[in-house]
Amino acid sequence: MSALAENLIRVEEQIAEAAASAGRSVAEIELVAVSKTHPAERVQEIFDAGQHLFGESRVQEAREKIPRLPGAAHWHFIGHLQKKKIRHALPLFELFHGIDSLETAQNVDRIADELGLFPKILLEVNVAGESSKFGFSAADLQAQFASLLELPRVEIHGLMTIAPMAEDGEASRPYFAQLRELRDELQSAHAVTLPHLSMGMTNDYRVAIQEGATLVRVGTAIFGARSGRRFAPMPEEP
Ligand SMILES: *Cc1c(COP(=O)(O)O)cnc(C)c1O
Repeated sequence: MSALAENLIRVEEQIAEAAASAGRSVAEIELVAVSKTHPAERVQEIFDAGQHLFGESRVQEAREKIPRLPGAAHWHFIGHLQKKKIRHALPLFELFHGIDSLETAQNVDRIADELGLFPKILLEVNVAGESSKFGFSAADLQAQFASLLELPRVEIHGLMTIAPMAEDGEASRPYFAQLRELRDELQSAHAVTLPHLSMGMTNDYRVAIQEGATLVRVGTAIFGARSGRRFAPMPEEP
């Protein structure tokens, strides 16, 4: 078995353990293998090991990589979606995790209408209020949620967050709990169902599962370290 396949098995075991520790069924949790920066050959290795859902955060990179993987692979976009990339991105991805403003959602809606698509999205919340991060503040999301629901093309499936960087995954717990509480509030205030909470990365996915994550986005623990800064978000594309 390849080293990457062993990594995948270890992550799957950790997911099962975290789910059990929280009394949750492992079937409620989907692993998004974050393949950004890793070449198609590495992604194929993980695909062959049975993992078929991948996350990419740059549109150009994904446009090159996706055609080189089997058609049975599923792709989520997990990054900040630049306006000029929306048209290319919409046909490629089944779920957009990082819709981070009303304006971005409106642009996605308008372009989806032109393309005849109904994109599934998650709204990114900057729970900790970090100035370096994209995302709705909790207050803005509550104020703008009715407008978001009115967009005819986008289907809102839940919320996403990235916790502040910390070596210790436990440090993320309050932020994940806040995201879940915000989701619960929006559901009851607007009589909608928001089934997905996308939270948890290599350092904190076990904690995220205990706090209700339905999608965990794990890169390093599967593919190994990316070159470049460890926790930094991907730079903007040119
Ligand atoms: C890169 C990235 C991940 C994966 O991070 P790891 O620490 O490598 O698991 C998860 N979510 C987002 C939004 C990312 O950009």
